[in-house]
Amino acid sequence: STWWSSVSMGPPDVILGITEAYKRDTDPKKVNLGVGAYRDDEGKPFILPSVRQAEERLHCKMLNHEYAPIGGEAGYTDLVAQLAFGEDSPVLKEKSNCTVQTLSGTGALRLGLEFITKHYNQTKEIWMPSPTWGNHPQICNTLNLPHKQYRYYDKKTHGFDLCGAMEDISKIPAGSIILLHACAHNPTGVDPKKEEWIQLSQVIKDKKIFPFFDMAYQGFATGSVDNDAFAVRQFVNDGHQVMLAQSFAKNMGLYGERAGALTFLCGDAESAAKVMSQVKIMIRTMYSNPPLYGARIVQEILSVPELKQQWLADVKSMADRIISMRQQLRAGIEGAGNKQNWQHITDQIGMFCYTGLNADQVAKLTKDHHIYLTKDGRISVAGISSKNVNYVAEAMHKVTS
Ligand code: PLP
Repeated sequence: STWWSSVSMGPPDVILGITEAYKRDTDPKKVNLGVGAYRDDEGKPFILPSVRQAEERLHCKMLNHEYAPIGGEAGYTDLVAQLAFGEDSPVLKEKSNCTVQTLSGTGALRLGLEFITKHYNQTKEIWMPSPTWGNHPQICNTLNLPHKQYRYYDKKTHGFDLCGAMEDISKIPAGSIILLHACAHNPTGVDPKKEEWIQLSQVIKDKKIFPFFDMAYQGFATGSVDNDAFAVRQFVNDGHQVMLAQSFAKNMGLYGERAGALTFLCGDAESAAKVMSQVKIMIRTMYSNPPLYGARIVQEILSVPELKQQWLADVKSMADRIISMRQQLRAGIEGAGNKQNWQHITDQIGMFCYTGLNADQVAKLTKDHHIYLTKDGRISVAGISSKNVNYVAEAMHKVTS
């Protein structure tokens, strides 16, 4: 026996399980559409040219490795808040925000939700879209935070269920927290349209619900960081005091460097200072202070105008490749004579596509065609390239006809 003999085996991570099965497959045609990381057209991890340039500049600066401040460097947090809320945002000018660096987007969600468990004095109930990213409910479970779902994805149209969402949200008890994916919803790739966001903002305001935005893909959806921040900025303009989790994993390709941020809009500078004092205590007792390297890259990119221009072009090139793969995939399936409607492949946005394939069809795709994806039919469009798109299209045609 050991000190740990009472520990039971936990369930494996679904996505990692898919990658392991993919690795074991020896068929040369195999394709992994499970991973949530961008790949270039050669199927390789992509280092953004702007990130390379930032790294070279940082190398020349010969910076030391002293600790960062508990909440991260102010130069970093100011720039990332500007990127999200807009350079001229009044909330930033009046310093009513509390922004800290976090361990990427997951760390921001964890810290934000943990802060809610300790310091939020209203209805501690988190409402999430159905479906949502698997880690959202998991983090709540870890924190013993009750969570419920509002309708989001419409299985019939493969699009956004505006009526269902509005109806469910209008019944959420006042003071509850609603989790919103700012853009490029994971896993569905379905985002509300601008007019729909305006309606959502209104009902959330009327019902006195507290919006918590998860923005893990700013720039990745449309190729424009400003466009993708529309929902967040609309809510702020409408007077919501939002919470925001940001990640630079996808839009800067800094996955493993863990650069992210958590912002609380607090109404005024005094309240922001109080929140900051408590957030710092929470960080100090969890990991003391955040990692430097990724945040330095982000700060360099956002503060040097030429680098920022390069980065905006890099983000657009990733978004454009994904959009082009969506078009080619749809054209391939339709071109093979498939009679179903595949418009949702090109209507959906960002890294993921909810294909509408059922569990049997997914199993066939893997067994007969060596294509790996999650059981819910979600594919990572980033895993598709000009080399495998026809193969994937043909296989999807075969399993659905
Ligand atoms: N939120 C959503 C919806 C995501 O899809 C992801 C990554 O897959 C994250 C947050 C956080 O990712 P990270 O912790 O790598 O920034």
